[in-house]
Amino acid sequence: MVGINYRVPVIDAAKCQACRQCLARKACRLKALAQFEAHELPYVDRELCRGCLLCLAECPFQAIVAE
Ligand code: SF4
Ligand code: SF4
Repeated sequence: MVGINYRVPVIDAAKCQACRQCLARKACRLKALAQFEAHELPYVDRELCRGCLLCLAECPFQAIVAE
């Protein structure tokens, strides 16, 4: 299995407000930031994410952090 050599962000559950629609999702052109239901914590699809970290700045609660 080939490991990834870039940082994939994670959702800090203690900070995430589980917005109705995650505001940071629009930053991800790869649609790697997913949210199945409104008011659910989003998650990062590690298969799709390429570690650009653009989504970090889009969360007004600083709930997306780079590992
Ligand atoms: S990551 Fe940020 S923008 Fe997205 S649901 Fe959580 S608090 Fe809202
Ligand atoms: S780091 Fe980039 S590719 Fe990964 S979820 Fe955030 S915006 Fe999408």
